[in-house]
Amino acid sequence: MGRTLLQTTIAGSLPKPAWLAQPNQLWAPWVLEGESLAEAKRDATRLAIRDQERAGIDILSDGEQSRRHFVTGYLEHLRGIDFEHPVTMRIRQRYDARVPQVVGPIERPQPVHLEDVRLLRAETDHPIKYTLPGPMTIIDTLHDGYYKNRPRLAMAFAGILNQEARELESLGVNVIQFDEPAFNVYLDEVKSWGIEALERAADGLKCKTAVHICYGYGIQANIDWKKTLGPQWRQYEETFPVIARSKISQVSLECHNSKVPLELIGLLKGKDIMVGAIDVASERVETPQEVARTIRAALKFVAPDKLYPCTNCGMVPLPRAVALGKLHALAAGARIVRKELGAG
Ligand code: ZN
Repeated sequence: MGRTLLQTTIAGSLPKPAWLAQPNQLWAPWVLEGESLAEAKRDATRLAIRDQERAGIDILSDGEQSRRHFVTGYLEHLRGIDFEHPVTMRIRQRYDARVPQVVGPIERPQPVHLEDVRLLRAETDHPIKYTLPGPMTIIDTLHDGYYKNRPRLAMAFAGILNQEARELESLGVNVIQFDEPAFNVYLDEVKSWGIEALERAADGLKCKTAVHICYGYGIQANIDWKKTLGPQWRQYEETFPVIARSKISQVSLECHNSKVPLELIGLLKGKDIMVGAIDVASERVETPQEVARTIRAALKFVAPDKLYPCTNCGMVPLPRAVALGKLHALAAGARIVRKELGAG
């Protein structure tokens, strides 16, 4: 086979240590400043790498230790965005957040994550994945006072993300993942311009490209939203056929403790599937057997060499010990099924 089946990976984020940022919250403020902060971010990244390695995770992330939030952590480094005068805006049609404003042409004065990726690449021999926010999700996390046109603004970001992605790829990143939770909300816009913006962001990349679509972190607004979605969550049914026709190579979906019908995986023929086998909305650590059960259920719809056991979403809002337990459960669950397949 040439490589391990059922390679495990995480959606992207891990909780940050309390000496880096205030724990158990999104957009948590940094505890330090200046060079002390930079050093603390590097130390936290090394710990995130070691924790994944020790747990037995195969494709490693930096745990997003160097950014406060998966979207604004990128935007903070661009020109044309005003963070000084945030406005309150409804995001993902679900909850209000204080978001920055676009006030001029979007520019990237310099690469944002180059040093983060250099560190990640230098610290592990495992394959590595790097996550970037997707264009549609970015524009759904800021107020546009300049372009006044969602597709045009998304394409501007897609161009910038593409430059960044190409630079990160050249440093040895194996998978570049774009996080597009907004793809589960604006189903018509995904078809009319969202997928085009995503493909523009991934244009020309030779490494694997992934899209993470999800039902969000385990915060209350998302838990309430999920209650309105009915007995079956079929949002992916609209978007998967569009993604299936795209050049994106991997797609993640939320499976454990979700009401997503697993047969929807069948809409993604030919793609790698990241199967969410860890619930990020619960502090209960899954047993390896539970993880194995989710993987086995997904194996009915995807071949083992195309199945990547993963978390449902980022683990940043969880307590560290819980996230660590979940990393171990994920790897142990994959080992059980690998053995059953005779690939252990
Ligand atoms: Zn997610």
